[in-house]
Amino acid sequence: MKYHRISEIKNDEFLGKEIRVRGWVYRLRKQKDKSFIIIRDERGGIIQCVLPSARVPDLTIESSLEIQGILFKDERAKEGGYEIRGNDVKIYSIANNDFPIREYQSTELLLDYRHLTLRTRKMITIAKVRATILGVVRNWFIENDWMEVTAPTLVKSAVEGGSTLFPVKYFKDEAFLSQSAQLYLEALIFSLGPVWTIGPSFRAEKSRTLRHLAEYLHLEAEAPWISMTDLFSIQEKLLVYLVRNLTRERREELEFLNRDIQALNKITEPFDKLSYNQAINDLRSKDIKIQEGELLRKIEWGDDLNIDSEKILTKDRINPVFVYGYPLKVKPFYVKEDPEEQGIALTTDLLLPDGFGEVSSGGMREDNIDLLKSRIMSEGLDMNSYSWYLDLRRYGSVPHGGFGIGIERLVRWLANLEDIKECVLFPRTMARLEP
Ligand code: ATP
Ligand code: MG
Repeated sequence: MKYHRISEIKNDEFLGKEIRVRGWVYRLRKQKDKSFIIIRDERGGIIQCVLPSARVPDLTIESSLEIQGILFKDERAKEGGYEIRGNDVKIYSIANNDFPIREYQSTELLLDYRHLTLRTRKMITIAKVRATILGVVRNWFIENDWMEVTAPTLVKSAVEGGSTLFPVKYFKDEAFLSQSAQLYLEALIFSLGPVWTIGPSFRAEKSRTLRHLAEYLHLEAEAPWISMTDLFSIQEKLLVYLVRNLTRERREELEFLNRDIQALNKITEPFDKLSYNQAINDLRSKDIKIQEGELLRKIEWGDDLNIDSEKILTKDRINPVFVYGYPLKVKPFYVKEDPEEQGIALTTDLLLPDGFGEVSSGGMREDNIDLLKSRIMSEGLDMNSYSWYLDLRRYGSVPHGGFGIGIERLVRWLANLEDIKECVLFPRTMARLEP
């Protein structure tokens, strides 16, 4: 007889039928004659099983077992009013009687035991939302004829600046863990057209925030002959598609996570576009201060936008908002300068509403070899390690651009989670390399 997924059998069609489920003991109540075992299966389905106590050996939480019985409907049954009246139990393994994950544990303990915390309902729910996000974005790229590629994670040179590089010993040489696949995607557009990738990016982030991981999943896209207008609209379409599909496919999970689905579904394209100048003026008019070393001073033109500024700019918004036209000097060496405005970069940062902050950075790339060389030089980077990248401008350079989205930032917003460590199964931060 085949096994049933619990999610599948909590359905009147199965009433009175013989059912076989397997999983782990989630809750347990043993009375003199009857035992109530709430079982959690391999996809997080939960159902109550009732058996004569004489047939139930000494069980512990998280013991693995298999139960065969008949499905009944009973209002009193915990977890949705269905119960299996079991006639047979097979034990796979009796768990140690000290399962460390209980209610009201500290966040740190839950992180220390993440390999076991992943069995909790919250983590299973988040994992499902995350998996669906990955599936939906992949579908969007397939439907829109972008080609999926992969890029190496061991690299020779920095993309996003030296301060967050992770060095690794590479035979007799030194290499780094990739901060972004962008330079490789740029190489691929000449033969594959619009390309996208999803893979880990590594940033040695030294400050502890609720939005930064040392390893995160990075979705990146790059295309030839693209414009700023295209870059805005591609990201708008992708996000709206994601929200619509996710809220349809994962309604129950989002509700469990207390995500306001209605508010989420109000997002529509186009999103507002705010110039960096407008953003700074707005922040200055609200007298926003930023920290500079020990000093607190008023924000001014030329400053990067920190999370507090992002919160103010996105307050009371339904849609995400783009901030474009940053000063060149706060952006990496490869960004293209606006030919019509000296010192201004052709970039698009996308900020999520409700203070969730930056989810994507993108823009046009410098396609002129001389300008690119002078940027590499003025940033004090080693020209030799970018020689292959410069070839892309030597042989048939074209206007091009793209963007990168942090998947955990998306999960954080869509699943309404405070801490980015909850948005990934095994988080990596400065303080955490295990489990
Ligand atoms: P931030 O300003 O938020 O630190 P960034 O501008 O340094 O991010 P980018 O280099 O623009 O990051 O990376 C592209 C996207 O990758 C970001 O918009 C964000 O969604 C995500 N991202 C960047 N750094 C991290 C990180 N340390 N942990 C998780 N996601 C990140
Ligand atoms: Mg950025």
